Amino acid sequence: MIIASNFKTNHTRESAKEYLVKLNHFVKENSIKEDILIFPPSTALDNYKLENTIKIGVQNAYPTDKGSFTGEVGFTQIDEFDIKTILVGHSERRHILKESDELIVKKYNFYKDKCYKIVYCIGEPKEVRNEGLEKVLEYNFSQLDGIDLSYENLIVAYEPVWAIGTGVSATKEDIEETLSALRKSIKAPLLYGGSVKVDNLKEILEIEDCDGVLVGTASWEVENFKEMVKIAHEL
Ligand code: PEP
Repeated sequence: MIIASNFKTNHTRESAKEYLVKLNHFVKENSIKEDILIFPPSTALDNYKLENTIKIGVQNAYPTDKGSFTGEVGFTQIDEFDIKTILVGHSERRHILKESDELIVKKYNFYKDKCYKIVYCIGEPKEVRNEGLEKVLEYNFSQLDGIDLSYENLIVAYEPVWAIGTGVSATKEDIEETLSALRKSIKAPLLYGGSVKVDNLKEILEIEDCDGVLVGTASWEVENFKEMVKIAHEL
């Protein structure tokens, strides 16, 4: 099972370190075997010494080794911290930062060539969900255009835009039918993301085609995230 935490624009370098020390201690003491992925902001990247089951990833990186891309980090900057995991296509980057499908595919291919573990996010807006499952699948599959689905280090995160950061998760039925339809074409692990919390985690992780979760808001407080890791571990 995969439990991922996206810090987004939260935590400082110091608080991220404190968080990771506490999480690492918890994982070690409880012999947690779940795969834990943590995506801190880029200012908090470092060569952390963590248990093997905890991996640090970047929330974003430009598809370049180095160069003139003001405000961006590239492969050289993240490789300094021996990072091998990246989030690509998060809806906040697609919708707020206006990242195009073309750039997202470029990032995917660039970091695939570097053998990164790629958590690739897809998900439909509310107006598409309102049109029913067929349209939802059409939309989500269109976001997979140009992506090599057979890449061995791929993880796909289904994150309906309307459920992200709203406190309102998709229903169990919505998640179930969407993941099972995606599963027909995707052999890679499938995560669900969108207002996952301690209270709904177990129900979501019990869905047949769900291999884990990507959590934002509910993961920012380490005690809460530890509770979520514990729930996954006990399943
Ligand atoms: C996310 O940012 O990927 C996410 C799922 O956020 P939240 O858990 O806050 O909805």
